[in-house]
Amino acid sequence: LAPLPMLDDPGNVKVVVRCRAFVRREREKGTQCLIRMDPATEKTTLLAPSDLDSNSSLRRAYEDKEFTFDKSYWSHDMEDPHYAHQEDVYRSFGEEFLDHNFAGYHTCIFAYGQTGSGKSYTMMGTPEQPGLIPRTCEELFDRIRDEPTPNTSYHVQVSYFEVYNEHVRDLLVPRTNHSIYLKIRESQKDGVYVQGLTEAEVKSYADVERLMKIGDMSRTTASTKMNDSSSRSHAVFTIRLKQITHSLLSDETIERTARMRLVDLAGSERAKSTEATGQRLKEGGQINKSLTTLGRVIAALADPSRHNAKGGRRPRTVVPYRDSVLTWLLRDSLGGNSKTAMVACIAPADYEETLSTLRYADQAK
Ligand code: ADP
Repeated sequence: LAPLPMLDDPGNVKVVVRCRAFVRREREKGTQCLIRMDPATEKTTLLAPSDLDSNSSLRRAYEDKEFTFDKSYWSHDMEDPHYAHQEDVYRSFGEEFLDHNFAGYHTCIFAYGQTGSGKSYTMMGTPEQPGLIPRTCEELFDRIRDEPTPNTSYHVQVSYFEVYNEHVRDLLVPRTNHSIYLKIRESQKDGVYVQGLTEAEVKSYADVERLMKIGDMSRTTASTKMNDSSSRSHAVFTIRLKQITHSLLSDETIERTARMRLVDLAGSERAKSTEATGQRLKEGGQINKSLTTLGRVIAALADPSRHNAKGGRRPRTVVPYRDSVLTWLLRDSLGGNSKTAMVACIAPADYEETLSTLRYADQAK
């Protein structure tokens, strides 16, 4: 089987940012919006909170900060003509990843941000406002039905797991009191994989919908002081698309397999801001280990000096995939011939957390 041609821009990492609307609590308090986005330049500005004017010692720590990403999605004010709907985000950002999968390449999209910044809304969405995952799955089956390649059969599999405290748990099996953590294995043939993970064959979008429901119900959540339903696990939804084409002229069969990973990362807030102690603090550390490593991996992939290494020379940056479970598992979907993207989700009124999210996203460009 001939390898797929290298992409023009291997390792290309796309970074976009999305600002959510006020939730009721913020609206009722008359919260000040600290985000400004300029649709013409894609610039995102984080504004210093003005209610600190009287406190000069604090004031010094805050100043306006400007960032530019590949795209800035203004989902703050529905009345605004530039408001980015779920459909807009999918069409201008998610759709092209599906094109890559049909061409046979792996892809990976992460949602990064503090708890409550809109990660689940962007990835999964709601029944009325479906996000990137349901839209991608629905369109995948539409394309198979409406625009099939001649003499090609399609096989789609879905898996859904979470990485919690550096352990992997299958989200497609019913949750028991004794959660079974799955082992990670590596083989010549399959690369890195999760042993015993459910990979469900799906024939229609309705099949996928059923699985998404099962998976979402079994996601680990526990209450913290910050947010009752805060999620401290990384949820990885994977679509595996296999296309088998039979050539009519020869006896040849061409097989292409591509994986699309859609990852809702754990909340990026630091353990201290949740006043976490004991077990929670330990979890915080472990989660940050995956998030920090992911940041380093993506930054290394985005580093242009890596791609300038020609011939037998080793690339200058070593990509630290093995430093966390998440990056090790996603290794095949990151770098190389894969397309990677990150959606940095930001809340409209939290200076410190938003600054940390924007900085994290900035190092991935
Ligand atoms: P996270 O997954 O980062 O913890 P959520 O996706 O649960 O955050 O979002 C927090 C709240 O904000 C939810 O009530 C969600 O419905 C709402 N929300 C998030 N993003 C948007 C958006 N773009 N437009 C409207 N509401 C949003």
